[in-house]
Amino acid sequence: MPQPRDGAGSGRQTGPAARPADAPAGLVDRYGRRATDMRLSLTDKCNLRCTYCMPAEGLEWLAKQAVMSAEEIVRIVRIGVDRLGVRELRLTGGEPLVRHDLVEIIAALRNNHPGLPISMTTNGVGLTKKAAALKAAGLTRINVSLDSLHEETFTKLTRRPFLDQVLAGVDAAWAAGLGPVKLNAVLMRGINDAESPSLLAWALDRGYELRFIEQMPLDADHGWTRRNMITAAEIRSLLSVDFVLSPDPRARDGAPAERFEVRRRVAGTAESRGPVLGTVGIIASVTEPFCSDCRRTRITAEGKIMSCLFSREEFDLLGLLREGASDEALVERWQDAMWVKPKAHGMDHVGLDAPDFVQPDRSMSAIGG
Ligand code: SAM
Ligand code: SF4
Repeated sequence: MPQPRDGAGSGRQTGPAARPADAPAGLVDRYGRRATDMRLSLTDKCNLRCTYCMPAEGLEWLAKQAVMSAEEIVRIVRIGVDRLGVRELRLTGGEPLVRHDLVEIIAALRNNHPGLPISMTTNGVGLTKKAAALKAAGLTRINVSLDSLHEETFTKLTRRPFLDQVLAGVDAAWAAGLGPVKLNAVLMRGINDAESPSLLAWALDRGYELRFIEQMPLDADHGWTRRNMITAAEIRSLLSVDFVLSPDPRARDGAPAERFEVRRRVAGTAESRGPVLGTVGIIASVTEPFCSDCRRTRITAEGKIMSCLFSREEFDLLGLLREGASDEALVERWQDAMWVKPKAHGMDHVGLDAPDFVQPDRSMSAIGG
């Protein structure tokens, strides 16, 4: 199983990659990118076992003491927002809904940051019970992962029979005012790829924004292969049987998803008919990466800073905080970590016939997707 790398990058950098004293304020890197979008993992635990993320038997969970407490999360977010220019927060995991103090954490964050967009990515299990409380606490919006509308396929992909709960959770989130609701789907060859047009039709009918995410080599089982992943080009082609996609005229503005307006296709022709039904997003992290415009900074559940999903280096923010560090020292560590953000993850540079990309140690659930 993947093990977090102990102490990697835990100190002040020295040498050629060290952040110069006159580096700009905020979370900037050597290539001039500025991170303003914070992804914070609330837990490494999860109640599903999605095949592209977790092994069937789960992972060895972090000890409770190793995970950031509510107070530590609130302090880290305060430093990010008040000192380092973070403008948007996404809570993730593991599964954020399994954290018993989730509502209290959101309420405390909202209290400190009245205008901050705070969204959450969830698998939706148990969301029906919590949606209204999350909204009341100050959550702005929600993303729910939904790979299939067929019970059997859903259960095969997630290894748990919870489709009904997830569908009810999506509707509950909408009803609670947590819209616009975005849905995330990962397509797996031969499992749910053929379902993509009907999944899109279902989402459009209900006013949910579906985004397809290319499968990344971040599964704990190390089963990802370049040949087997469904590329963005394939996704567009699968959808184009039923729909005509045209680029969304709105600016992408650093968003990972490339958005398309969707119209019905006149069967067997290149023509569309009727009005725009809504939009669909495609997150092509592998084949059409957006590294040059990346605005993300990530904090894992145990308080490590990752400048990229594929970083080989982690910087221990929580350890420093627990040693009694000042805000100033925490600001510096965070800036040092972001300064050495890789230029690109490089997955797209390897041709289809080249050996597969070397997978990072951490799986998606252990980073915080
Ligand atoms: N448990 C929550 C959920 O599933 O929405 C939040 C955490 S999950 C790691 C966040 C997102 O990462 C989900 O939308 C999931 O589909 C996506 N994800 C997980 N493993 C992935 C992989 N190997 N490639 C692409 N996306 C992945
Ligand atoms: Fe859990 Fe989300 Fe990973 Fe699925 S993708 S196993 S729901 S963390």
